[in-house]
Amino acid sequence: MKRIYIKDLKDYVDKEVTVAGWVDVRRDQGKLIFFDFRDVSGKVQGVVLPNNNEAHEIGSKVRSEWVVEVRGKINKRPERAIQVDKQNGDIEMEIFNIAVLNEAEVSPFDIAGDGKEINEEIRLRHRYIDLRRERMQENIRRRHLVSKFVRDFYSKEGFVEIETPYMTKSTPEGSRDFIVPSRLDLGKFYALPQSPQQYKQLLMSAGFERYFQIARCFRDEDTRGDRQPEFTQIDMEMSFATQEDIISINERLLIDTIKALYPEKEIQEIPFPRFSHTEVMEKYGSDKPDIRKDKNNPNLLAFCWVVDFPFFEKGNDGSWTFSHNPFSLPKQEYISDLLEKKNIEKIVADQFDVVLNGYEIGGGSVRAHKPECLKKVFEIMSYSEERIEKNFGHMLKSLASGTPPHGGLAFGFDRLMMILQGEPNIREVIAFAKTGEGRDPMMDSPSEVQDEQLNELGIKIRK
Ligand code: ASP
Repeated sequence: MKRIYIKDLKDYVDKEVTVAGWVDVRRDQGKLIFFDFRDVSGKVQGVVLPNNNEAHEIGSKVRSEWVVEVRGKINKRPERAIQVDKQNGDIEMEIFNIAVLNEAEVSPFDIAGDGKEINEEIRLRHRYIDLRRERMQENIRRRHLVSKFVRDFYSKEGFVEIETPYMTKSTPEGSRDFIVPSRLDLGKFYALPQSPQQYKQLLMSAGFERYFQIARCFRDEDTRGDRQPEFTQIDMEMSFATQEDIISINERLLIDTIKALYPEKEIQEIPFPRFSHTEVMEKYGSDKPDIRKDKNNPNLLAFCWVVDFPFFEKGNDGSWTFSHNPFSLPKQEYISDLLEKKNIEKIVADQFDVVLNGYEIGGGSVRAHKPECLKKVFEIMSYSEERIEKNFGHMLKSLASGTPPHGGLAFGFDRLMMILQGEPNIREVIAFAKTGEGRDPMMDSPSEVQDEQLNELGIKIRK
Protein backbone atom coordinates (compact mmCIF):
# COMPACT_ATOMS: atom_id res chain seq x y z
CA MET A 1 0.00 0.00 0.00
CA LYS A 2 1.27 3.47 -0.91
CA ARG A 3 2.82 5.41 1.94
CA ILE A 4 0.90 8.51 3.01
CA TYR A 5 2.66 11.48 4.63
CA ILE A 6 1.40 12.20 8.11
CA LYS A 7 0.52 15.79 7.22
CA ASP A 8 -1.96 14.50 4.64
CA LEU A 9 -3.82 12.06 6.92
CA LYS A 10 -6.64 14.53 7.55
CA ASP A 11 -7.78 13.84 3.99
CA TYR A 12 -8.12 10.10 4.69
CA VAL A 13 -10.80 9.97 7.40
CA ASP A 14 -12.53 6.56 7.43
CA LYS A 15 -9.93 5.20 5.03
CA GLU A 16 -7.19 2.67 5.49
CA VAL A 17 -3.65 4.02 5.10
CA THR A 18 -0.02 3.12 5.59
CA VAL A 19 2.40 5.54 7.22
CA ALA A 20 6.13 5.12 7.80
CA GLY A 21 8.30 6.91 10.30
CA TRP A 22 9.55 6.89 13.86
CA VAL A 23 7.91 6.08 17.12
CA ASP A 24 7.99 9.43 18.87
CA VAL A 25 6.39 8.34 22.15
CA ARG A 26 4.64 5.26 23.32
CA ARG A 27 2.14 5.22 26.16
CA ASP A 28 1.23 1.73 27.27
CA GLN A 29 -2.03 1.72 29.18
CA GLY A 30 -2.31 -2.05 29.32
CA LYS A 31 -5.37 -2.66 27.25
CA LEU A 32 -4.76 0.31 25.00
CA ILE A 33 -1.37 1.25 23.64
CA PHE A 34 -1.03 4.79 22.35
CA PHE A 35 1.70 5.96 20.03
CA ASP A 36 2.78 9.22 18.54
CA PHE A 37 4.28 8.51 15.14
CA ARG A 38 6.54 11.03 13.45
CA ASP A 39 7.65 11.41 9.88
CA VAL A 40 9.23 14.24 7.95
CA SER A 41 5.87 15.98 7.69
CA GLY A 42 4.57 15.81 11.24
CA LYS A 43 3.05 13.70 13.98
CA VAL A 44 -0.09 11.69 14.49
CA GLN A 45 -1.48 9.70 17.37
CA GLY A 46 -2.18 6.03 16.87
CA VAL A 47 -3.87 3.51 19.11
CA VAL A 48 -3.83 -0.28 19.29
CA LEU A 49 -7.17 -1.59 20.48
CA PRO A 50 -7.30 -4.59 22.85
CA ASN A 51 -8.95 -6.91 20.33
CA ASN A 52 -5.95 -6.79 17.97
CA ASN A 53 -3.64 -9.39 19.48
CA GLU A 54 -0.93 -9.33 16.87
CA ALA A 55 -0.53 -5.55 16.84
CA HIS A 56 -0.71 -5.59 20.63
CA GLU A 57 2.18 -7.97 20.89
CA ILE A 58 4.43 -5.94 18.59
CA GLY A 59 3.14 -2.68 20.03
CA SER A 60 4.25 -3.64 23.51
CA LYS A 61 7.81 -4.25 22.27
CA VAL A 62 8.50 -1.15 20.16
CA ARG A 63 10.17 1.83 21.77
CA SER A 64 10.88 5.46 20.98
CA GLU A 65 12.95 6.05 17.85
CA TRP A 66 12.20 2.65 16.37
CA VAL A 67 11.43 2.90 12.68
CA VAL A 68 8.09 1.41 11.75
CA GLU A 69 5.57 1.04 9.00
CA VAL A 70 2.07 1.20 10.31
CA ARG A 71 -1.19 0.25 8.66
CA GLY A 72 -4.45 1.44 10.08
CA LYS A 73 -7.64 3.38 9.68
CA ILE A 74 -8.00 7.12 10.18
CA ASN A 75 -10.86 7.92 12.57
CA LYS A 76 -12.32 11.26 13.60
CA ARG A 77 -11.77 11.74 17.32
CA PRO A 78 -14.80 12.11 19.54
CA GLU A 79 -15.53 15.75 20.39
CA ARG A 80 -14.06 15.56 23.92
CA ALA A 81 -10.76 14.10 22.68
CA ILE A 82 -10.07 16.78 20.07
CA GLN A 83 -6.90 18.76 20.63
CA VAL A 84 -7.26 22.06 18.88
CA ASP A 85 -4.13 23.85 17.60
CA LYS A 86 -2.33 20.53 17.35
CA GLN A 87 -1.46 18.95 14.02
CA ASN A 88 -3.86 16.02 13.48
CA GLY A 89 -5.47 16.88 16.83
CA ASP A 90 -8.87 15.87 15.50
CA ILE A 91 -7.94 12.48 14.08
CA GLU A 92 -6.42 9.27 15.34
CA MET A 93 -5.08 6.21 13.63
CA GLU A 94 -6.59 2.89 14.65
CA ILE A 95 -3.64 0.58 14.21
CA PHE A 96 -4.14 -2.73 12.40
CA ASN A 97 -0.57 -3.72 11.91
CA ILE A 98 2.94 -2.55 12.87
CA ALA A 99 5.99 -3.66 10.90
CA VAL A 100 9.31 -2.90 12.54
CA LEU A 101 11.74 -1.61 9.88
CA ASN A 102 14.52 -1.02 12.35
CA GLU A 103 15.01 -1.08 16.07
CA ALA A 104 16.83 1.68 17.95
CA GLU A 105 19.06 1.70 20.98
CA VAL A 106 17.93 3.82 23.88
CA SER A 107 18.52 7.43 22.84
CA PRO A 108 21.32 9.24 24.74
CA PHE A 109 19.03 12.23 25.22
CA ASP A 110 15.52 13.43 24.73
CA ILE A 111 14.65 15.03 21.42
CA ALA A 112 11.27 16.34 22.51
CA GLY A 113 12.46 19.68 23.85
CA ASP A 114 14.67 22.33 22.30
CA GLY A 115 17.75 20.51 23.57
CA LYS A 116 19.56 23.57 24.87
CA GLU A 117 19.79 22.09 28.34
CA ILE A 118 21.75 19.08 27.04
CA ASN A 119 25.55 19.08 27.06
CA GLU A 120 26.53 20.31 23.62
CA GLU A 121 29.41 17.90 23.14
CA ILE A 122 26.97 15.02 23.62
CA ARG A 123 24.51 16.57 21.19
CA LEU A 124 27.28 16.89 18.61
CA ARG A 125 28.50 13.36 19.20
CA HIS A 126 25.04 12.03 18.34
CA ARG A 127 24.18 14.76 15.88
CA TYR A 128 22.07 12.47 13.69
CA ILE A 129 19.74 12.08 16.66
CA ASP A 130 19.98 15.69 17.79
CA LEU A 131 18.96 16.84 14.32
CA ARG A 132 15.68 14.94 14.68
CA ARG A 133 14.40 17.51 17.14
CA GLU A 134 11.87 19.94 15.76
CA ARG A 135 13.97 23.04 16.39
CA MET A 136 16.97 21.66 14.51
CA GLN A 137 14.81 20.38 11.66
CA GLU A 138 13.35 23.86 11.35
CA ASN A 139 16.78 25.56 11.43
CA ILE A 140 18.24 23.34 8.76
CA ARG A 141 15.14 23.49 6.54
CA ARG A 142 15.02 27.28 6.86
CA ARG A 143 18.65 27.42 5.90
CA HIS A 144 17.80 25.54 2.74
CA LEU A 145 14.95 27.93 1.95
CA VAL A 146 17.18 30.96 2.40
CA SER A 147 19.97 29.53 0.26
CA LYS A 148 17.46 28.63 -2.43
CA PHE A 149 15.98 32.13 -2.31
CA VAL A 150 19.46 33.64 -2.59
CA ARG A 151 20.30 31.41 -5.55
CA ASP A 152 17.09 32.36 -7.32
CA PHE A 153 17.53 36.05 -6.57
CA TYR A 154 21.04 36.31 -7.96
CA SER A 155 20.19 34.04 -10.89
CA LYS A 156 17.31 36.34 -11.88
CA GLU A 157 19.73 39.26 -11.72
CA GLY A 158 22.05 37.60 -14.21
CA PHE A 159 24.58 36.15 -11.80
CA VAL A 160 26.14 32.76 -12.47
CA GLU A 161 27.00 30.38 -9.66
CA ILE A 162 30.50 29.10 -10.24
CA GLU A 163 32.37 26.69 -8.00
CA THR A 164 35.93 27.61 -7.21
CA PRO A 165 38.61 25.25 -5.88
CA TYR A 166 38.88 24.19 -2.27
CA MET A 167 42.42 22.98 -2.82
CA THR A 168 44.27 26.10 -3.71
CA LYS A 169 46.92 28.50 -2.60
CA SER A 170 46.87 30.78 0.39
CA THR A 171 44.44 33.73 0.19
CA PRO A 172 45.39 36.47 2.61
CA GLU A 173 42.26 37.38 4.55
CA GLY A 174 44.11 38.06 7.73
CA SER A 175 43.90 34.55 9.13
CA ARG A 176 45.95 31.35 9.19
CA ASP A 177 45.49 28.83 6.38
CA PHE A 178 44.63 25.18 6.72
CA ILE A 179 47.09 23.34 4.53
CA VAL A 180 46.92 20.03 2.69
CA PRO A 181 50.11 18.14 1.91
CA SER A 182 50.62 17.02 -1.66
CA ARG A 183 51.66 13.42 -2.25
CA LEU A 184 52.50 13.85 -5.91
CA ASP A 185 54.55 16.95 -5.27
CA LEU A 186 56.31 15.96 -2.09
CA GLY A 187 57.04 18.77 0.33
CA LYS A 188 54.45 21.06 -1.24
CA PHE A 189 51.09 22.04 0.13
CA TYR A 190 47.73 23.24 -1.01
CA ALA A 191 45.90 25.73 1.15
CA LEU A 192 42.17 25.64 1.78
CA PRO A 193 40.70 29.01 0.80
CA GLN A 194 39.87 31.56 3.48
CA SER A 195 37.39 32.83 0.91
CA PRO A 196 36.98 32.61 -2.88
CA GLN A 197 38.33 36.18 -3.14
CA GLN A 198 41.06 35.69 -5.71
CA TYR A 199 39.09 33.27 -7.86
CA LYS A 200 36.06 35.51 -8.00
CA GLN A 201 38.22 38.37 -9.16
CA LEU A 202 39.82 36.10 -11.75
CA LEU A 203 36.27 35.29 -12.93
CA MET A 204 35.71 39.01 -13.49
CA SER A 205 38.88 39.00 -15.54
CA ALA A 206 37.45 36.00 -17.36
CA GLY A 207 34.42 38.02 -18.44
CA PHE A 208 31.62 36.46 -16.39
CA GLU A 209 30.65 39.93 -15.10
CA ARG A 210 28.29 38.60 -12.44
CA TYR A 211 29.32 35.70 -10.18
CA PHE A 212 27.99 34.25 -6.97
CA GLN A 213 28.59 31.15 -4.94
CA ILE A 214 27.48 29.67 -1.68
CA ALA A 215 30.96 28.69 -0.70
CA ARG A 216 32.73 27.06 2.19
CA CYS A 217 35.62 29.03 3.68
CA PHE A 218 38.35 27.72 5.94
CA ARG A 219 40.25 29.70 8.55
CA ASP A 220 42.57 28.31 11.16
CA GLU A 221 41.83 30.76 13.90
CA ASP A 222 42.33 30.43 17.61
CA THR A 223 39.20 29.01 19.06
CA ARG A 224 36.52 31.43 20.03
CA GLY A 225 33.09 30.29 21.10
CA ASP A 226 31.29 31.36 18.00
CA ARG A 227 33.85 30.49 15.36
CA GLN A 228 33.95 27.40 13.20
CA PRO A 229 37.07 26.35 11.30
CA GLU A 230 34.86 26.01 8.25
CA PHE A 231 31.94 28.27 7.58
CA THR A 232 29.79 29.32 4.67
CA GLN A 233 29.72 32.55 2.74
CA ILE A 234 27.21 33.87 0.28
CA ASP A 235 29.83 35.29 -2.01
CA MET A 236 29.30 37.61 -4.98
CA GLU A 237 31.24 39.80 -7.36
CA MET A 238 30.20 42.07 -10.23
CA SER A 239 31.95 43.97 -13.00
CA PHE A 240 31.49 47.61 -13.99
CA ALA A 241 29.96 48.18 -10.57
CA THR A 242 30.30 51.03 -8.14
CA GLN A 243 30.03 50.69 -4.38
CA GLU A 244 26.47 51.95 -4.74
CA ASP A 245 25.60 49.15 -7.17
CA ILE A 246 26.98 46.48 -4.86
CA ILE A 247 25.25 47.89 -1.81
CA SER A 248 21.90 48.37 -3.47
CA ILE A 249 21.56 44.91 -5.01
CA ASN A 250 22.54 43.22 -1.75
CA GLU A 251 20.28 45.42 0.34
CA ARG A 252 17.45 44.37 -1.96
CA LEU A 253 18.45 40.72 -1.52
CA LEU A 254 18.23 41.01 2.27
CA ILE A 255 14.90 42.83 2.20
CA ASP A 256 13.34 40.44 -0.31
CA THR A 257 14.56 37.37 1.59
CA ILE A 258 13.07 38.59 4.85
CA LYS A 259 9.79 39.68 3.31
CA ALA A 260 9.41 36.31 1.59
CA LEU A 261 10.61 33.94 4.30
CA TYR A 262 10.33 35.87 7.57
CA PRO A 263 7.20 38.01 7.15
CA GLU A 264 6.79 38.19 10.93
CA LYS A 265 10.03 40.16 11.21
CA GLU A 266 10.24 43.93 11.03
CA ILE A 267 13.12 45.73 9.37
CA GLN A 268 13.76 48.83 11.46
CA GLU A 269 14.73 51.18 8.64
CA ILE A 270 14.63 50.97 4.85
CA PRO A 271 16.81 52.02 3.12
CA PHE A 272 19.33 50.76 5.63
CA PRO A 273 21.08 53.67 7.35
CA ARG A 274 24.70 54.24 6.40
CA PHE A 275 27.51 55.45 8.58
CA SER A 276 31.08 56.22 7.70
CA HIS A 277 33.63 54.29 9.72
CA THR A 278 34.69 57.49 11.50
CA GLU A 279 31.09 58.37 12.30
CA VAL A 280 30.20 54.95 13.66
CA MET A 281 33.26 54.86 15.89
CA GLU A 282 32.47 58.31 17.28
CA LYS A 283 28.80 57.64 17.76
CA TYR A 284 28.81 54.00 18.96
CA GLY A 285 32.44 53.20 19.74
CA SER A 286 32.09 50.09 17.57
CA ASP A 287 32.19 49.31 13.88
CA LYS A 288 29.30 46.89 14.34
CA PRO A 289 26.76 48.87 16.31
CA ASP A 290 23.52 47.39 17.55
CA ILE A 291 21.14 50.18 16.56
CA ARG A 292 17.90 48.40 17.48
CA LYS A 293 15.42 50.85 19.03
CA ASP A 294 13.94 48.03 21.11
CA LYS A 295 16.31 45.26 22.06
CA ASN A 296 13.54 43.18 23.66
CA ASN A 297 11.73 42.67 20.40
CA PRO A 298 13.03 39.39 18.92
CA ASN A 299 11.49 40.17 15.54
CA LEU A 300 13.25 43.49 15.03
CA LEU A 301 16.04 43.55 12.46
CA ALA A 302 18.21 46.67 12.48
CA PHE A 303 20.52 46.66 9.49
CA CYS A 304 23.08 49.33 8.70
CA TRP A 305 25.99 49.80 6.35
CA VAL A 306 29.35 50.98 7.56
CA VAL A 307 31.33 52.52 4.71
CA ASP A 308 34.67 54.24 4.11
CA PHE A 309 36.94 51.99 6.12
CA PRO A 310 40.56 52.99 6.52
CA PHE A 311 42.60 50.93 4.06
CA PHE A 312 45.56 50.21 6.29
CA GLU A 313 46.23 49.68 9.94
CA LYS A 314 49.39 49.08 11.92
CA GLY A 315 50.03 45.41 12.63
CA ASN A 316 51.42 44.12 15.94
CA ASP A 317 54.99 44.61 14.73
CA GLY A 318 54.34 48.23 13.75
CA SER A 319 54.31 47.64 10.01
CA TRP A 320 51.34 48.42 7.78
CA THR A 321 48.78 45.79 7.02
CA PHE A 322 45.40 45.93 5.28
CA SER A 323 42.41 46.45 7.54
CA HIS A 324 40.02 44.21 5.57
CA ASN A 325 41.20 43.09 2.20
CA PRO A 326 44.39 43.85 0.27
CA PHE A 327 42.46 43.76 -3.01
CA SER A 328 40.35 46.84 -2.27
CA LEU A 329 40.60 50.13 -4.14
CA PRO A 330 41.10 53.42 -2.32
CA LYS A 331 38.41 56.00 -2.88
CA GLN A 332 39.14 58.05 -5.99
CA GLU A 333 40.65 60.99 -4.09
CA TYR A 334 43.18 58.73 -2.33
CA ILE A 335 44.46 56.80 -5.32
CA SER A 336 47.37 59.18 -5.88
CA ASP A 337 48.38 58.79 -2.22
CA LEU A 338 48.42 55.02 -2.67
CA LEU A 339 50.48 55.23 -5.84
CA GLU A 340 52.92 57.62 -4.16
CA LYS A 341 52.79 55.63 -0.90
CA LYS A 342 52.13 58.71 1.23
CA ASN A 343 49.58 59.66 3.92
CA ILE A 344 49.04 55.95 4.33
CA GLU A 345 47.11 56.26 7.59
CA LYS A 346 44.62 58.59 5.88
CA ILE A 347 43.83 56.42 2.88
CA VAL A 348 40.16 55.49 2.84
CA ALA A 349 39.00 52.47 0.86
CA ASP A 350 35.82 51.87 -1.08
CA GLN A 351 35.10 49.20 1.44
CA PHE A 352 32.04 48.45 3.53
CA ASP A 353 30.42 46.15 6.04
CA VAL A 354 26.80 45.29 6.58
CA VAL A 355 25.77 44.99 10.21
CA LEU A 356 22.66 43.37 11.69
CA ASN A 357 21.66 43.77 15.34
CA GLY A 358 25.27 44.30 16.36
CA TYR A 359 26.78 41.50 14.27
CA GLU A 360 28.89 42.01 11.17
CA ILE A 361 27.04 39.82 8.67
CA GLY A 362 28.96 40.78 5.56
CA GLY A 363 31.58 42.93 3.97
CA GLY A 364 32.99 43.84 0.63
CA SER A 365 34.72 46.42 -1.48
CA VAL A 366 35.42 47.84 -4.87
CA ARG A 367 38.68 46.21 -6.00
CA ALA A 368 41.89 47.44 -7.50
CA HIS A 369 41.55 46.49 -11.16
CA LYS A 370 44.86 47.94 -12.29
CA PRO A 371 48.02 46.02 -11.46
CA GLU A 372 49.95 49.08 -10.27
CA CYS A 373 47.35 49.79 -7.55
CA LEU A 374 47.39 46.24 -6.18
CA LYS A 375 51.17 46.12 -6.32
CA LYS A 376 51.47 49.31 -4.27
CA VAL A 377 49.33 47.76 -1.53
CA PHE A 378 51.85 44.96 -1.13
CA GLU A 379 54.77 47.38 -1.30
CA ILE A 380 53.22 49.44 1.50
CA MET A 381 53.00 46.22 3.48
CA SER A 382 56.76 45.82 2.85
CA TYR A 383 56.43 42.66 0.77
CA SER A 384 59.56 42.02 -1.27
CA GLU A 385 59.37 42.07 -5.05
CA GLU A 386 59.99 38.34 -5.01
CA ARG A 387 57.21 37.58 -2.52
CA ILE A 388 54.73 39.73 -4.45
CA GLU A 389 55.58 37.89 -7.63
CA LYS A 390 55.45 34.49 -6.00
CA ASN A 391 52.19 34.96 -4.10
CA PHE A 392 50.28 37.36 -6.29
CA GLY A 393 51.91 37.17 -9.71
CA HIS A 394 48.78 35.53 -11.14
CA MET A 395 46.57 38.35 -9.81
CA LEU A 396 48.83 41.06 -11.21
CA LYS A 397 48.98 39.29 -14.56
CA SER A 398 45.22 38.90 -14.73
CA LEU A 399 44.73 42.58 -13.90
CA ALA A 400 47.12 43.36 -16.74
CA SER A 401 45.19 41.18 -19.17
CA GLY A 402 42.12 43.39 -19.56
CA THR A 403 40.19 43.19 -16.28
CA PRO A 404 37.12 45.38 -15.93
CA PRO A 405 36.49 47.50 -12.85
CA HIS A 406 34.74 45.28 -10.34
CA GLY A 407 33.78 44.74 -6.75
CA GLY A 408 31.72 42.51 -4.54
CA LEU A 409 30.79 41.32 -1.14
CA ALA A 410 30.37 38.22 0.98
CA PHE A 411 27.81 37.48 3.68
CA GLY A 412 28.53 35.15 6.57
CA PHE A 413 25.67 32.75 5.90
CA ASP A 414 25.84 30.94 9.25
CA ARG A 415 25.71 34.16 11.20
CA LEU A 416 22.83 35.49 9.14
CA MET A 417 20.87 32.28 9.76
CA MET A 418 21.71 32.39 13.46
CA ILE A 419 20.15 35.84 13.78
CA LEU A 420 17.13 35.07 11.61
CA GLN A 421 16.42 31.89 13.57
CA GLY A 422 16.98 33.63 16.90
CA GLU A 423 19.70 31.20 17.90
CA PRO A 424 22.51 31.98 20.37
CA ASN A 425 25.36 30.62 18.21
CA ILE A 426 26.11 29.46 14.66
CA ARG A 427 26.43 25.78 15.64
CA GLU A 428 22.65 25.65 15.95
CA VAL A 429 22.20 26.41 12.24
CA ILE A 430 24.97 24.12 10.93
CA ALA A 431 23.98 20.49 10.40
CA PHE A 432 27.32 19.01 11.38
CA ALA A 433 28.99 21.65 13.49
CA LYS A 434 32.27 21.33 15.31
CA THR A 435 32.73 22.18 18.98
CA GLY A 436 33.99 25.59 20.04
CA GLU A 437 37.44 23.95 20.11
CA GLY A 438 37.13 22.89 16.48
CA ARG A 439 36.56 19.18 17.08
CA ASP A 440 33.96 16.89 15.63
CA PRO A 441 33.08 14.51 18.48
CA MET A 442 30.93 12.32 16.22
CA MET A 443 33.61 11.52 13.63
CA ASP A 444 36.32 12.00 16.24
CA SER A 445 38.14 14.46 14.07
CA PRO A 446 40.82 15.70 13.87
CA SER A 447 42.43 12.33 14.39
CA GLU A 448 45.72 10.57 13.85
CA VAL A 449 46.39 8.93 10.50
CA GLN A 450 48.19 5.73 9.55
CA ASP A 451 51.99 5.81 9.51
CA GLU A 452 51.75 4.66 5.94
CA GLN A 453 49.80 7.76 4.97
CA LEU A 454 52.38 9.98 6.63
CA ASN A 455 55.23 8.13 4.93
CA GLU A 456 53.65 8.64 1.54
CA LEU A 457 53.48 12.34 2.24
CA GLY A 458 57.02 12.49 3.56
CA ILE A 459 55.76 13.73 6.91
CA LYS A 460 57.16 12.90 10.31
CA ILE A 461 55.33 13.98 13.45
CA ARG A 462 57.49 15.64 16.06
CA LYS A 463 56.00 14.86 19.46
N1 ASP B 1 36.45 37.92 0.63
C1 ASP B 1 35.99 38.89 1.58
C2 ASP B 1 35.91 38.26 2.96
O1 ASP B 1 35.93 37.05 3.08
C3 ASP B 1 34.66 39.45 1.25
C4 ASP B 1 34.72 40.34 0.05
O2 ASP B 1 35.38 41.39 0.10
O3 ASP B 1 34.06 40.01 -0.95
O4 ASP B 1 35.78 38.95 3.94
